[in-house]
Amino acid sequence: MKLQNPSLLKTGALIDGAWVAGNKKFAVHNPATGAELAQVADLGSAETKTAIAAAKAAQGPWAKLTGKQRGQILRCWFESMVQNADDLAAIMTAEQGKPLAEAKGEILYAASFLEWFGEEAKRVYGDIIPETKPGTRILVMKQPVGVVGSITPWNFPSAMITRKCAPALAAGCTVVLKPAKQTPLSALALGELAIQAGVPKGVLNIITSSNSSSIGMELCTNPDVRKIGFTGSTEVGKILMQQAAVGVKKMSLELGGNAPFIVFDDADIDAAVAGAIISKFRNAGQTCVCANRIFVQKKIAAEFNKKLAAAMAQLKVGNGTENGVTIGPLIDQNAVTKVQELVDDARSQGAVIALGGAGHALGGLFYQPTLITGATPKMRLHAEEIFGPVAAVYEFTDEAEAIQLANNTEYGLAAYFYARDLGRVFRVAEALEYGMVAVNEAILSTEVAPFGGIKESGFGREGSFYGIEEYVETKYVLLGLPQQ
Ligand code: NAP
Repeated sequence: MKLQNPSLLKTGALIDGAWVAGNKKFAVHNPATGAELAQVADLGSAETKTAIAAAKAAQGPWAKLTGKQRGQILRCWFESMVQNADDLAAIMTAEQGKPLAEAKGEILYAASFLEWFGEEAKRVYGDIIPETKPGTRILVMKQPVGVVGSITPWNFPSAMITRKCAPALAAGCTVVLKPAKQTPLSALALGELAIQAGVPKGVLNIITSSNSSSIGMELCTNPDVRKIGFTGSTEVGKILMQQAAVGVKKMSLELGGNAPFIVFDDADIDAAVAGAIISKFRNAGQTCVCANRIFVQKKIAAEFNKKLAAAMAQLKVGNGTENGVTIGPLIDQNAVTKVQELVDDARSQGAVIALGGAGHALGGLFYQPTLITGATPKMRLHAEEIFGPVAAVYEFTDEAEAIQLANNTEYGLAAYFYARDLGRVFRVAEALEYGMVAVNEAILSTEVAPFGGIKESGFGREGSFYGIEEYVETKYVLLGLPQQ
């Protein structure tokens, strides 16, 4: 990996403004080649305690700065991310595998949260509520929650970090962050840029570790941590919720998804196919908002499937550094095994594998874009996140059946549908039990809108003016005014 700014390649953890090498290390690998990229500090709960203490000490002075001052620092961090976008993308592709163009897109998306929340830092308004008793005033003020523990996944190694750190820092909180062990280098590069941007020591701490459960336990049970922000699987989210219950910590959980992608018979089929390709195959299908179940109305299913197969045949699998590659490797062997199990299960239950269905000729962690038709709700891939480049198409008869099928899951993150009839658009958008619904569009994410789920996809919102609410406490002050 050749970088224009080699100072971005850090292998130590960041605690109280200093890089900590630690005694133990763990290896980070390139999923496209299997090559070892770096040996990174492997820390435990003792260092996490130190980081929490540093974050606690830094929080008061950080919160005492004006919102404008904090915003200016976030702005500098944003600008340095944009300036270093090519290097940050190269680091991400190397450790995560997504194609370079997609990695660069994520870097700019990640940076947008620093820009947005840097501006929002000036707008954490309180309220004055009309009093009910003469001679009093009712004030409502918003104050930073305090020290935040953040745990982030490998599939968006930068964006999931800034989506948490930007609102936290804007509100006057400090952070102890634990990135995923597969992608620590992207996190550490952001840490270096944060220091260069003037984020004071202790305000952002990054603990790298191969033992996530011990770090998670410390963050969830340490009384000095006041909030846990987590993005990852529903399974781990539930564990963290139980651990954090002991100290009744504030939480926001961005968990797994099982997105329906519904195509009604009045839809623009070409637009729906293009949308399905974007929604299904971004990051090789490894996103929480990827179309997991594609429901197509019977009348148009043959045409849709034919066009989808043709579009999928254009996808190019390979190392994300190569020109024109649109599908990189999966993250690890477990992911490949899980995807194969889901495909085999569908096949054994009568689905048609219209395209792909096995590992790619490139070998390693590469998997063929796969089209499954004739999928049914009995198959495992109806209930589970596929997290791979596998499009499963189901057929439905009418609107009521489409809604019933779409809502038939414990998840409730993102849903998509394509339709033209205005009445149907409103009925379906309102009936879908999801935190986010995209109509005739395939990409929901933007820093200005509230991202998040319902049901077992979690709670709390990231991005937009709602996002900062997750990092402030609402304090009510009743003022009795001495009479003259
Ligand atoms: P994961 O296994 O839950 O891991 C996520 C993070 O939690 C990683 O940093 C991981 O560390 C850590 N972790 C794992 N076990 C832990 C424990 N017992 N205590 C504390 N931390 C623990 O999820 P993943 O497989 O990496 O990521 C994919 C999942 O994230 C999918 O379900 C996807 O839908 C979800 N996701 C959701 C959103 C959203 O916004 N809703 C966005 C992106 C992804 P290590 O990896 O170092 O073990």
